Amino acid sequence: MGSERSDSKELKGIGASGGIAIGRVRITDRRRVQVAEHPVRADEIPVELARLAKAIERAKLDLATLKNQLAATHGPEHLCVIDAHLLLLDDNTLVGETTQYIQQLGINAEGALKRTLNRVKSFFNNVEDEYLRERGNDIETVVERVLRTMVGERLEPIIRAGDGRVIVAAHDLSPADILQIDKSQVIGFVTELGGKTSHSTILARAFEIPAVVGLERITAEVADGDRVIIDGTAGVVIVNPTADQFREYLNRKHRYEYIERELLKLRDLPAVTLDGHRMRLKGNIELVEEVASLKKHGGEGVGLYRTEMLFLNRDHLPTEEEQFQAYSAIVKQMAPHPVTIRTLDIGGDKFLNDLNVCDEMNPALGVRAIRLSLRNPQAFKAQLKAILRASAYGKVRLFFPMVSGIAEVRAAKALFEEAKKELAGVHPFDEEIKVGIMIEIPSAVMIADLLAAEVDFFSVGTNDLIQYTLAIDRTNEHLSPLYEPLHPAVLRSLKRVVDAAHHAGIEACICGEMAGEPEFLPVLLGMGFDELSMNAGSISRVKKILRRCTMEAAREVVERILSFRTAEEADAYLKGEISARFSESFD
Ligand code: PEP
Ligand code: MG
Repeated sequence: MGSERSDSKELKGIGASGGIAIGRVRITDRRRVQVAEHPVRADEIPVELARLAKAIERAKLDLATLKNQLAATHGPEHLCVIDAHLLLLDDNTLVGETTQYIQQLGINAEGALKRTLNRVKSFFNNVEDEYLRERGNDIETVVERVLRTMVGERLEPIIRAGDGRVIVAAHDLSPADILQIDKSQVIGFVTELGGKTSHSTILARAFEIPAVVGLERITAEVADGDRVIIDGTAGVVIVNPTADQFREYLNRKHRYEYIERELLKLRDLPAVTLDGHRMRLKGNIELVEEVASLKKHGGEGVGLYRTEMLFLNRDHLPTEEEQFQAYSAIVKQMAPHPVTIRTLDIGGDKFLNDLNVCDEMNPALGVRAIRLSLRNPQAFKAQLKAILRASAYGKVRLFFPMVSGIAEVRAAKALFEEAKKELAGVHPFDEEIKVGIMIEIPSAVMIADLLAAEVDFFSVGTNDLIQYTLAIDRTNEHLSPLYEPLHPAVLRSLKRVVDAAHHAGIEACICGEMAGEPEFLPVLLGMGFDELSMNAGSISRVKKILRRCTMEAAREVVERILSFRTAEEADAYLKGEISARFSESFD
């Protein structure tokens, strides 16, 4: 890496899994299999149908074999992604629609399957929510597997013997690919597809492999054996770095790893201020795969388990039993720490066929979350029962998202009581289970005192609370400068919620992204929040600040910050305070 190279280039993608990796690239061809559509004669249609059925069975068998192989090295919590793909192969849309294309259009099975894929994908591409859009990639991965089986193509292994330690570049990597990766050989990866919430990305974070995704054409920009640097925190990939870049990133890498090691030392230390004020720091998760990383970072439980993942990509709702299996797996693994499970928070998505949701002009203001659950009491009760059953295996709390008023809370709690009655004597559950609500709509803030009398705890979803308070679509990148956590309206709302909760003798928690931003810690602490829940990687950073703070200083910060008239003033003040009091903690 001695001399300057003119072919060095820096590319920007999405930072998907933090950390820096420096090494040689290995391009893996995970590109789409090429298939052509062609007409078939009427008497060939049964043959095509049989080919489709056979390829699907073959793909299922391959996945089942893979699952068995991986079971030797991975716990069951990592294998549920393969189960999700197996379920997709049983999906009625996939098989039913492809069968119809073969029969009605008189075309070959590959062409028909490709048509189904294109239709399903264009549906997902039009979904606004990034998280849901990503689910389209799972279907693509599964269909690719079937198509490869049909055309007799086999996937080459991700790395070859003798490759050494490499950074893998691919069009896309499926969750199964990531599970098969030998972590001692693959030190990072970069893909053309993917976003922050794709399954593969979540797994990369769970395994702590630096990754950059969404870097279109990366497999064309690099050649096998090129030196590359990937910065998974910033989303930067440098191909053939100059000597200066190499030195700079090597330093950064060492620094990053040093800081991570230092932060991990905080893992077993209590989350307590210098003057002895205790605060609980928990993790937000969506998959059981994330539990290991949460424990490693010293999470004192799960403060927000988003259950949506289980409900996506499927024709029919997960049964009570399936949900119970998923919830109890997490509860058992987290025990003795508590798990706070949120009931379903989606809506406006047609593919949840079993829940009648119509097209909506404004899905964010539509039949979402608790509104959707209350319209589908049977499905809601199945989820409530599954959560109750999981409570027999550890400490569980439950809460409802997007509550706007008392009537919703009462209706949800009435169904919860019914669920308890129906379970009594059939399955064990914790009779004393605590029930809370998310505070994420301004109306809930305004009546926080009234709501506090109805529930056991509040958890503020700042992502939505900011969105609805400031009327800023949280997914609209053009508005992101206006998305201001320190807007006086947001700060006053937070203060009002904590005060109402404590006045009623219940807990006030936060599980939105604000909780995981270390610079907001003095504000949230000073306001009196009892619990912060965040992504696992932020826990030690927040704890580090907490352990250098006093409650007294934090209260002063709150008093001052509430006196400003604009977010800019509040922001400038907080930055000043942070650099004066904690600069060395913000490396
Ligand atoms: C929030 O709105 O802050 C929250 C935690 O919920 P979600 O991000 O899942 O809407
Ligand atoms: Mg929310």
